[in-house]
Amino acid sequence: MFEDKKQSFTPISELGEFGLIERLTKNARKNAPNTTKGIGDDAAVIENTDEQTLVSTDLLIEGVHFDLTYVPLRHLGYKSVAVNLSDICAMNAKPTQVTVSIAVSSRFPVDALDELYEGIHLACNNYGVDLIGGDTSSSTTGLMISVTAIGQAKTERIAYRHMAEDKDLLVVSGDLGAAYLGLQLLEREKEVFKVNPEMQPELNENHAYMLERQLKPEARLDIVQLLEKLEVKPKAMIDVSDGLSSEILHLCKASKVGCKIYEEKIPIDPTVINLANDFQIHQTTIAMNGGEDYELLFTVGMEDYDKIKGNPSLTVIGHITSESEGVNMVTSTNESIELKAQGWNQMKQE
Ligand code: ADP
Ligand code: MG
Repeated sequence: MFEDKKQSFTPISELGEFGLIERLTKNARKNAPNTTKGIGDDAAVIENTDEQTLVSTDLLIEGVHFDLTYVPLRHLGYKSVAVNLSDICAMNAKPTQVTVSIAVSSRFPVDALDELYEGIHLACNNYGVDLIGGDTSSSTTGLMISVTAIGQAKTERIAYRHMAEDKDLLVVSGDLGAAYLGLQLLEREKEVFKVNPEMQPELNENHAYMLERQLKPEARLDIVQLLEKLEVKPKAMIDVSDGLSSEILHLCKASKVGCKIYEEKIPIDPTVINLANDFQIHQTTIAMNGGEDYELLFTVGMEDYDKIKGNPSLTVIGHITSESEGVNMVTSTNESIELKAQGWNQMKQE
């Protein structure tokens, strides 16, 4: 970490606030067509289009939302932006700008913030969004990051949580559970390191996908674009940040509907199934309650089934029912289990 080698790094005080802002934002590029003015004035300016504007914000606190003992700052910067863009994508909209505000203690040299901003700029460029502003402050303890994402969508394309209807198909993108196991792997390495700091991390190739899903999650902008290309309007949509179970319950509650999902349909990567076996946790538990997958969960009308069927990025996991039927999962052994707010078993309480 930076504390160990402080002498070779530049303290923030050497640059001052304006010098720091200039250094961190000098690589901001213009990607989005509707940014009139980005960083450098009292406010950024965005040109109005004939679309709706969407805004979403997140606050990330060191020790609460991230642990710098195993999260590289570059990844943290990337993830801070990506998870915010995921919220815009979860409305079936396209992100266009972000603002990033940071509060940072003197424990961090400028070089640490350079790394954080490398990740921020990389995410912005990958998703074609502009970093258009933010604020910079000192903090007495640790690092805080607040990201606000702005996006655009045509009125009729926006997918609210409350728009699911009886008999809709419930669809999820990608696969679930990998990010949770990635976190378990990192936590395990941290414990080993605490006991013996000389120990090299034992992270093998079979774990690469899970670590990447935890450290460098992606917003599924590609799915928003895919649905547009397939001429499918997702009716209700939400991103999977807290585990499938909790997101299904949010969506059903907002739409005043029930649903039936099938355990055997839940998409889970083979490496996740293997490691779940090693950890002696049921793979379904991980997918249902794990969180941080940032996949999109949405419903489509039955008439759209032909357009999405067989697509490798999309899996139909069940269908919407009337509210009175409740929110249920049919297990591999053909039992019906009601999904509850805490998840469908004890994992969250462990
Ligand atoms: P003000 O005094 O008006 O708040 P600042 O000096 O804080 O302005 O910021 C100058 C410019 O730099 C503004 O465009 C602001 O949005 C931008 N900015 C400040 N901090 C950050 C940051 N951490 N990341 C990105 N842009 C920033
Ligand atoms: Mg300011």
